[in-house]
Amino acid sequence: MQPDTHPQRNHTDWRITEQIKGFLDPEEGMRLYEIALDASRLGPCLEIGSYCGKSVIYLGNACKAGDTILFSIDHHRGSEEQQPGEEYFDPELFDIRTFQIDTFPLFRNTLALAGLEDTVVPIVCRSEIAARAWNTPLGLVFIDGGHAFETAMMDYRCWAHHIVPRGFLLIHDIFQDPKEGGQVPWRVYEIAKASGLFKALPMTKTLGVLQRIHSADQ
Ligand code: MG
Repeated sequence: MQPDTHPQRNHTDWRITEQIKGFLDPEEGMRLYEIALDASRLGPCLEIGSYCGKSVIYLGNACKAGDTILFSIDHHRGSEEQQPGEEYFDPELFDIRTFQIDTFPLFRNTLALAGLEDTVVPIVCRSEIAARAWNTPLGLVFIDGGHAFETAMMDYRCWAHHIVPRGFLLIHDIFQDPKEGGQVPWRVYEIAKASGLFKALPMTKTLGVLQRIHSADQ
């Protein structure tokens, strides 16, 4: 077994993630954790698309170990494909009192279950609303919100410029083959690469990993 040399690494029991609804592969989750450990030295981290909190467990534990904060933005009303009648509709997430999707109670439960209430700051609104008054440099931005082109591009435009040099931009659900999944996250990933602001690091499954270039590194 490799010795555990990272000074900040904690010893989370990742089995907790199996109880949480979500679409994140455990390998992708561990990559999120590893990158967020590095990113937590650079500044707070931010994710767009909290859903029920599966990715929050990986990112949040890294931020906790690095003694920083994770902001997690979601309107909690479900994305386009999670609405009634759509492919990813989950009746357990439908609030019959308001007749809308509401994932916030489950997300909040995940924070309590994972002991992350002092690390994660939930922001309940569309990401562009929070961005209107944002002024905090970020060590990492994880884009995993709506998959319509306008939504994903808005998330990129609103948040990518807040990433500090050597910080990370992560994009989930990248499928280059249209038979495997929608193309929007891949298009946003390509646009980010073409901006000249980021270099591409190896992907993990559908998780794209970009690092903001520092002028001293060029
Ligand atoms: Mg996703």
